[in-house]
Amino acid sequence: MSDLYELRCKECGKTWGNSPRSFCEECFSPLEVSFDYDSLKKAVRRDDLAGRKFNMWRYAEFLPLQDGYAPSGDVGGTPLIASGKLAAHWGVKNLFIKNDAVCFPSLSFKDRVVATALAAARRFGAQIADRFQWGLVNVNLRPYYSEGSKTHGFEIAEQLGWRLPDNVVVPMAGGSLIGKIAKAFRELVTLGWVEDKSVKFFGAQATGCSPISTAVKRGLSRFEPQKPNTIARSLAIGNPADGPYAIKLIRESGGWAEDVSDAEIVSAIKLLAETEGIFTETAGGVTIGVAEKLIREGRIHPEETTVVCITGNGLKTTDAIAAEFPLSEAIAPRLEAFEAYIETQLPAAAAARA
Ligand SMILES: *Cc1c(COP(=O)(O)O)cnc(C)c1O
Ligand SMILES: [Zn+2]
Repeated sequence: MSDLYELRCKECGKTWGNSPRSFCEECFSPLEVSFDYDSLKKAVRRDDLAGRKFNMWRYAEFLPLQDGYAPSGDVGGTPLIASGKLAAHWGVKNLFIKNDAVCFPSLSFKDRVVATALAAARRFGAQIADRFQWGLVNVNLRPYYSEGSKTHGFEIAEQLGWRLPDNVVVPMAGGSLIGKIAKAFRELVTLGWVEDKSVKFFGAQATGCSPISTAVKRGLSRFEPQKPNTIARSLAIGNPADGPYAIKLIRESGGWAEDVSDAEIVSAIKLLAETEGIFTETAGGVTIGVAEKLIREGRIHPEETTVVCITGNGLKTTDAIAAEFPLSEAIAPRLEAFEAYIETQLPAAAAARA
């Protein structure tokens, strides 16, 4: 069977087959994987998914994988949590948290894109892997790599019972994920797997690196590059490759973008941990902080279905919150030291023991 997809220029539309390249040699615009949806419709039906494991490979036909590719590892397949306490705290009704803080194997949504890039690297041969190594996976394999982000969106729709939400709040670095969630939703509509519906896309950034949110707030279609200065390092891309596309999507969908300070990021990490028991990295603090702002500003309505995307685990950025929650000093591995310690921490317990 031949491929159901190939690279296509996002601007001039010229197609380039399948090869490790990321930009159009005619107009120098970025390339994207484009699918033949008529063939895709015949290749897979929604019911086919029933017997498949709940991980990102259940959507294999929607990914640029080689025919017969046998993926290994339970990547993706993360929970969508119906929020109780955080929703109540914010005074909203239908709030969901997509939790890639527990995405395997590395506790980040990046596992989805890297797994897809590895499949492409294998396909295009050890030439790439040997000569250029990892560094270029996000360069000449970028169109294939970034398709992996769609699975975050497919899972959201499926976990909502094959429905699209009203709003999605997405953290933005290069601005790719937000566009790929939109692409995933569009593909499901094209195949007739979900009912068509307008979804508002909301972008979240840290104020210390906010080229995209700043452009949206100022009504500009182009962003001005920034020099990043924020604790949200996984989002600190001052010159985002997909920035213009993210701005367009946010504007045309009727969404908005906001940004939060480092202090607000830390409070948001704490809020999510206290209300939902989810420990997220700084990117998740950005998403939660921005979602709160959007609700307070009335841009997200309380009765609508809103999905907030948590993309990484808090264990990755403990340095960012260490000052706020200092660790107690380690004690010597001796019983007396432990007893002395307990006496300072739990005087009542120590007294009861004595
Ligand atoms: C890379 C990254 C993002 C955003 O990704 P883009 O697709 O570049 O916008 C979000 N969260 C985390 C944790 C990331 O590492
Ligand atoms: Zn072109």
